[in-house]
Amino acid sequence: MSVSETIRAHAAAQIDATVAFAARLVQTPSMPGQEGDVAALVRQEMQKLGYDEVQVDAAGNVIGLLRGSGSGRSLLFNTHMDHVSPGDRSHWHVDPFSGQIADGQLWGRASTDIKGSLACQVYTVPLLRAAGLLPAGDVYVTAVVMEEIGGLGMQHLATHLRADSAIVGEPSNCLLKRGHRGRTGLQVTITGKAGHASMPDRAVNPHTVAAGFLLALRDLPMASHPDFGSATLAPTIYRSDNESINVIPESVSIHLDWRTVPGEDAGSMVKTLQARLDAALLPGSHGTVAVVQDDMTSYSGMKLSLPSVFRPYALPEDHWAVQIAEQVLGSGPAGLWRFATDGGHLHDAGVPPLGFGPGLEEHCHIADERISIAQMEQALAGNARLALALTDTAGATP
Ligand SMILES: [Zn+2]
Repeated sequence: MSVSETIRAHAAAQIDATVAFAARLVQTPSMPGQEGDVAALVRQEMQKLGYDEVQVDAAGNVIGLLRGSGSGRSLLFNTHMDHVSPGDRSHWHVDPFSGQIADGQLWGRASTDIKGSLACQVYTVPLLRAAGLLPAGDVYVTAVVMEEIGGLGMQHLATHLRADSAIVGEPSNCLLKRGHRGRTGLQVTITGKAGHASMPDRAVNPHTVAAGFLLALRDLPMASHPDFGSATLAPTIYRSDNESINVIPESVSIHLDWRTVPGEDAGSMVKTLQARLDAALLPGSHGTVAVVQDDMTSYSGMKLSLPSVFRPYALPEDHWAVQIAEQVLGSGPAGLWRFATDGGHLHDAGVPPLGFGPGLEEHCHIADERISIAQMEQALAGNARLALALTDTAGATP
């Protein structure tokens, strides 16, 4: 049997245990800042599976180590333990935390983003051991906190853990990725003059200003880039300072999610938006645009406050890790994700991150989130082959 046939056979043997673990992860809700229970589950599973070392760092990230057989390159597998809210449960056909298995899929919030992939990365280590294929370099499997709201976990991990390359397990349909667009969070605040709803002439209604501003965003010219495609801008959250049905509010705030391509900077985004906002203002109103500050506190008590600016990145097509991974997976040239990941923080810290994981981008953050079990099996095998190839220095130059 060839190495890849051996790995495929062992992936088939491990898939049931992997899916059962993924189901338990889905059944353990873990919103950002509340990952304690799921972190305990990941740690216990790694210990049970015989990892050489398992530790939980100050941010609450779980780090498992498979010690390599020689002096090959080190590799860091990465996913996160948090997820977005399930939203309105009436949109779901299954309980979002049931971890139900039906129609060849594992169902529930975080199945695709990203607990299915987390389980595959954790079970890559027992697969390699069972197959008798020990990577030449150290392999870390990391599950971090708070990826969905600013990346406290990864930003801390990158201060104390290094590797020669990394695999970020966000859903890629088991195709190879070498980067992604960036993301900047912007807050727009519009202030008018509050008043009784029966006397609108005495008030300055901030909703009217907001309407003009939001409509003006539809024809905002967006930057584009030959590799990354176009930047995009989406208003996501709208808040008013008033909850009474018969009061015109004093102010409203709008969150804007700007997905960036190389060459864009937060300062000029603020300027562009401020000009549109100024043009939409009514007499007696004013408005400001600012970059959001992410204030994060992990379940372990670590605090971090940073501007919500995540830069786009792409490894060059001829990067050694891209070349090796393309050869291993044989699925064509590496592409770029449209969404942002913790890979950006790794890249900022000097660790080159590849992207590879089971599941479809379009199944993230939606009702009836689910992941294909066949893809999970493919990811298990892919992870194992990547672990062997990316740690092997024979015949490849970094
Ligand atoms: Zn994710």
